[in-house]
Amino acid sequence: MISESTAGAVSTSIIDLPASSSIYRLGATPVLAHWTARHDGDQRPPEIGGEDDGGRVCPSGRSRVWLRQVHGSGVVRVDGQWDQVGVEGDALVTAREDVCLAIFVADCAPVALASPEGVLAAVHAGWRGLMAGVIETTVAAMASMGATRIVGAVGPCVHPECYEFSEMELRSVAERLGDGVVATTVSSRPALDLPAAVASALDASGVALLAQVGECTACSGSYFSHRREGSVERQAMLVWKQGCRAGLPAETAGVHMTKEIVMVDHHPWVSSSHEGART
Ligand SMILES: [Zn+2]
Repeated sequence: MISESTAGAVSTSIIDLPASSSIYRLGATPVLAHWTARHDGDQRPPEIGGEDDGGRVCPSGRSRVWLRQVHGSGVVRVDGQWDQVGVEGDALVTAREDVCLAIFVADCAPVALASPEGVLAAVHAGWRGLMAGVIETTVAAMASMGATRIVGAVGPCVHPECYEFSEMELRSVAERLGDGVVATTVSSRPALDLPAAVASALDASGVALLAQVGECTACSGSYFSHRREGSVERQAMLVWKQGCRAGLPAETAGVHMTKEIVMVDHHPWVSSSHEGART
C-alpha cells in the first residue's frame, strides 16, 4: 500500500513496509533501522527487567545505548564524552558510528530519523511524548548537530482499531496534531490514530516520512503488546550508521527526498560476541 502525503515543501510517499522485512536504509542517508518482533524475544537490558545484555541483536562493533523512557520529551545527545547508558529520556541523537541507538516499545511508536549528513535519532513516541513535543525537540537537536533535511521511518505500533481513547484526551491530541488523529476502534469506540499523530508531528517539523511498518502491535500477534496483553516485554528499534552501499547516491539533491527504501540483503551485523566497547 502506498499513500501520498505532503510534508511541507517536501513531497514524499509513505511506503507501507512489510513487517517481515528486516533492515531499512533511510533514503539516501548512511543510517539503517531495524525493528524487532516477538520472535526476536524481549529486548530489555537487565537494568530494566529484561535479560538482553546487548549482544543478541546489535550491529557488530557497536555499543547499544538506551534510555529509561518516561513518555516525555527529553533528548539525550550521545557525543564523544558520553557515558550515560540508562539515563532518563525518550530520544537519542548522535553522529557517532560506534553506537547503536535502542528504543524499547510495546504499542508506542518507535521513530527513526536520519539526515544525509549522518546525524541520526531514535525516538520513543507515545501520545504523551507527542503532546510533550518529543519529535520537535529531537529534530531541533539534530539540526543543532548539522542535520539539514531529515527523513523518518516509523516502526510497528498500535493502530486505531485497537486503541480506544477517552474523548477528552482525544480532543486535546486533535487540537495539537489535527483532526486526522481522530478515529474509531473496531467496535466503533473513540480511538487515537497513533500512526497519523506521529505523521502529523513529523510533518509539522519538516521531516519527510519515508516509510512505516503497516502492522498493528495489538492485533497482529507478531509483537509484544501492552494494550492487548499487558506485556512487560519489549521489542526494540535499533538505529545506527553504516556507509551507503555502492550505487546509492551519497546525498539527496533538491527538495525531493528519495522514495526508495534500500534493504540490506544480508545480516552481517548480528554477532554472537558483542565487541563494541562501551565508552
Ligand atoms: Zn490492531
